[in-house]
Amino acid sequence: MAKPTFRLHDTMTREVKELRTLEPGHLRFYSCGPTVYSYAHIGNFRSFLTADLVIRTAEALGWKVSFVNNITDVGHLTQDDVADLGGEDRMEKALAREGQRFASVWDLAEHYIEAFKTDWRRLNLKEPMTRPRATEHVAEQIRMIEGLVANQHAYETPTGVYYDVTSFKNYGKLSGNVDQEALFRGVREVVSDDNKKHPADFALWKKDPKHLMQWYSPWDWGFPGWHIECSAMARKYLGDTLDLHAGGEDNRFPHHECEIAQSEGLTGKTFSNHWIHTAFLQVEGEKMSKRLGNLFTVGELVDERGAEALAVRYSLISGVYQKPLNFTMQTLEDANRNVERFRSSDALVAKALEAGRPGDDAIGSDLEELYDASLAGMCDNLNTAVGLAKALEGTRVILREGESMSAASAKSGKEFLDKVNALLGIVRYDNGYDANPCGDHKASHIDEAVVTAKIAERDAAKKAKDFATSDKIRDDLAALGVELRDSPQGTTWHVKPRL
Ligand code: AMP
Ligand code: ZN
Repeated sequence: MAKPTFRLHDTMTREVKELRTLEPGHLRFYSCGPTVYSYAHIGNFRSFLTADLVIRTAEALGWKVSFVNNITDVGHLTQDDVADLGGEDRMEKALAREGQRFASVWDLAEHYIEAFKTDWRRLNLKEPMTRPRATEHVAEQIRMIEGLVANQHAYETPTGVYYDVTSFKNYGKLSGNVDQEALFRGVREVVSDDNKKHPADFALWKKDPKHLMQWYSPWDWGFPGWHIECSAMARKYLGDTLDLHAGGEDNRFPHHECEIAQSEGLTGKTFSNHWIHTAFLQVEGEKMSKRLGNLFTVGELVDERGAEALAVRYSLISGVYQKPLNFTMQTLEDANRNVERFRSSDALVAKALEAGRPGDDAIGSDLEELYDASLAGMCDNLNTAVGLAKALEGTRVILREGESMSAASAKSGKEFLDKVNALLGIVRYDNGYDANPCGDHKASHIDEAVVTAKIAERDAAKKAKDFATSDKIRDDLAALGVELRDSPQGTTWHVKPRL
């Protein structure tokens, strides 16, 4: 089949259009990363998973992808719904909250970055080309601000350096906030500096000799604003014009609008040719955010509730990214079941390959068609509903073959599962993450050595045809939340999610 065209919704033009790259077959892609003042929640990961699916789809088409996902470790203030952020730096505020645990704001950042990377890996997201930290790119930000001052898009006041929004005629284009009244609504209440030319002008640099993280600049000691970091780091690693820029829907305004003003104000070139935004994840119908406190982290779901990380991934990608997704425990339970189907198919195919039974390939052409349909779904604006449904249909085809599967069918089955996994990442880890051999989904209250011993005891009882004992062992383990699965390869176990 000819390769499908990769089409994505573009926030700028508000239409689904072909994702074109400046250099054929090479996608330069930037997605706003986490602010590391706390553990990332599954809503954040919904947005990162959208980026992951773009990467996987592009790679399935044979493209090379240069993907940058930054780390925001300074400058993201608490009032971030207006362009000129106000309030406290989220990092400093977190240190005040958790001062007992961390010696400094740097240690706090380090801790949450590590936790973020772990969750990233266990949700089977592909590693970015680079994960630049804002605090390690202050020189680049300063240089960019100097350029904007020099070409009169920015000016200095006693409190900082501000971007003159009236100097950039396209300000408001991405978010549709083109009418000045809408754009500047709410801004007046938080005006931080009477010397600003316009209340909506936003800070590129904040002078603040008391800030915990501060740098020397042509405008005295202080720290960079949140928006400038992404302009500076995207430019450094991906060039003046990106093929694609992504983020959650809250990033559209003000963050991305400000990035455009800064980057295009400096270079005079289009900053990104395509923009995508992921709708928010909700929990039981409510908005989820660190601030509202109704969030789940990957750790909570996996370590405390015993969910499988790949099932968390599955549930988070089960809804099309442009629509809000309501995360419920039912979604997770369904995802658990589906991931299990992929795993059983994988095991069945591996066993049939080993057995090497003669016979024709009975499933190859069906599976090929299903993979093509799955890829076509993903190329159609990341339609995961279709992508996942077609992949699941493939497991039905494989499992139907059962124990008598020929080696030729098994070879097609393996090819299918490998390709589906490369596209959707739901069969097994392919990002280098080494889930421990017993799975990373074991709840901490369960002693793995005890479970392994009990399974051996049960095997012995079964061999001796003492089914009363083997059933009792199964029931005892079930009471602890441990579910056993017997397969021709032996018995595996997992902790049944407490959903
Ligand atoms: P933050 O750590 O707040 O800087 O956010 C990191 C990324 O997660 C950004 O792209 C946000 O737009 C995105 N995000 C935040 N909350 C949610 C949510 N509930 N659902 C989806 N994406 C979100
Ligand atoms: Zn950003």
